[in-house]
Amino acid sequence: MKVLVGVKRVVDANIKVRVKSDGSGVETANVKMAMNPFCEIAVEQAVRMKEAGTVSEIVAVSIGGPQSQETLRTALAMGADRAILVETDQEVQPLAVAKAFKALCEKEKPGLVIMGKQAIDDDCNQSGQMLAALLGWPQAAFISKIEISGDSAQITREIDGGLEKLSAKLPLVATTDLRLNEPRYVTLPNIMKAKKKPLENVKAADLGVDVAPRLTTVKVAEPPKRSSGVKVADVAELVQKLKNEARVI
Ligand code: AMP
Repeated sequence: MKVLVGVKRVVDANIKVRVKSDGSGVETANVKMAMNPFCEIAVEQAVRMKEAGTVSEIVAVSIGGPQSQETLRTALAMGADRAILVETDQEVQPLAVAKAFKALCEKEKPGLVIMGKQAIDDDCNQSGQMLAALLGWPQAAFISKIEISGDSAQITREIDGGLEKLSAKLPLVATTDLRLNEPRYVTLPNIMKAKKKPLENVKAADLGVDVAPRLTTVKVAEPPKRSSGVKVADVAELVQKLKNEARVI
């Protein structure tokens, strides 16, 4: 079974983001970029499934500028077999991602697409769901476990009241939750090996997809500064302050 994995290049999760002075977005110039953490979990899952013998080929896909090649090389170093960059210089929104993946699914015919549950830059949590809808495939969002048997997948999802277990026919779109796995570190020998793995470059227009943004960002602003807290001597003082100052009880 072939697996397509979505990997997005985002501002590194350990970096404190800064809003651009004109409020048009978040500063990305000279900022450390990395693979979206939920996409790392998606790649790791595909690699573990290949190691277990349920997956025969892993294709990492990124939609974005030429710099996304770096992110794809990381996916290759983690264990993906080949990579496809759908190149565009436009801002890529979830509908565009879903359309590009749909075109690739029609060409590559994977049994499974694994994406992150959300990209930590736009926090949209939409691409996988939109892709499943466009393809008419089942979707399993926020998975914490997946097992393939025959032509179906057994999925576990963590929900408020406990664990939800689902069964779905392949082909399937799955999106990863935090506890699915812990992604491996890439080793130097694997980084070197990844340089030789195939990375195909296609233009979004060559896929026949319109990736033009449908949403306009009106304004991005820093959250209001939090004032410092106060220490209280005892529970009585805390209750008094909650009642009379914060007026929350
Ligand atoms: P989002 O819907 O934007 O929160 O993204 C959810 C997931 O969709 C990400 O974790 C990726 O797996 C995939 N995805 C989103 N944008 C891209 C992109 N530009 N290239 C590749 N995959 C993407």
